[in-house]
Formats: sequence, structure tokens, C-alpha cells
Amino acid sequence: MLDKTRAAIARRRKLDPYAKVRFRGVTLDRRTRAAFLLLERRYRAVAPKRRGKLRIGQGSYSNGSMSGSTHAQGGAIDVMFAGLNPKQQRAVVKFGRLVGFSMWSRKDPKVWGYNNEHAHGILRGHRTASPAAQQQVVAYDAGRDGLVSNLPDREWRPKKKRRFSYIQGKPILGK
Ligand SMILES: [Zn+2]
Repeated sequence: MLDKTRAAIARRRKLDPYAKVRFRGVTLDRRTRAAFLLLERRYRAVAPKRRGKLRIGQGSYSNGSMSGSTHAQGGAIDVMFAGLNPKQQRAVVKFGRLVGFSMWSRKDPKVWGYNNEHAHGILRGHRTASPAAQQQVVAYDAGRDGLVSNLPDREWRPKKKRRFSYIQGKPILGK
């Protein structure tokens, strides 16, 4: 969890938020890791005894078979749904959206394969996100599902847009 003291914020100002980091077996960058950790913390805070750590599937800077090129550069993360009940799955997407991801459930086995249900997220305003990932953020803002099908997004979303600030360690509203 990001330290929100003045000293810690001053320290982060000197760091590159887009430096790659290895985290739980995948590659992310500092900004995406920090946003994910805030998502996870808020998710777990709802029911600390019953909600464990989340499992990351695909990270960033990686080429998966089913994700097009949305994970090819920064800001992309998949949070796996295996072992989570439907309410918990919805909560992952909700907190992902609240901290500053454009995030959707990806559950159709015909599209994603069996045992591959997950939440797919792209960190909003991420400077190294791939063009395909940036297109998904545009689709999110247009109320769509971010897929080629371009269907309406039916999942809960916050009323105000937001972006995760690495320096502040929290989402900034209105962007
Ligand atoms: Zn994904």
C-alpha cells in the first residue's frame, strides 16, 4: 500500500511511475502495481476475513493469445475470478473502476476459454499503454464493453471519471 505521508509523496515524485516491476509473477510498472494494490486493499476491506489476496493472470508488457495487443505495453492487468463468487467478482470490477482502471468482466467461455473468467483492466491515462489498450479506454468512456462487438457496458461504474495518481496514491476525480 502506498504511504500517503508528505515524505513518501516527495519520494515518489523522484521515481519513474512507468519503470517496470516484477510483481506476483508478472511484469507491471510502478503506477499499475500501486493502482492494483489499492483496488485489492479496498476489495478486501469489505470482508477481511472472507476475502483473500487477488490473483493476477496476465500482466503488462506481455503478449497473450486472447487479449489482442492490449497487454503488449503498460497499464494492463487481468484479475482472475476463479474462487470468487459473483458478488466478489462484481466487487473487483467496481473497485477497479473506482481506483482508475477502465475494467470489465470477461466471462464468456466461448470467447475466453474455460476457467479463464477474469476482470480485464487498463489503467486510465497510462502513458505507455498500447494503442489497442488506449482504444479500450475510449470505448469505456463511450459506455461500451471494449471488445470488437462494441456492446453496451452493463456493469456498475462510478459517475465521475477518475485517474489513478501514482504520486498521490489515490484516484483523482474528473479526468
Ligand atoms: Zn486482459
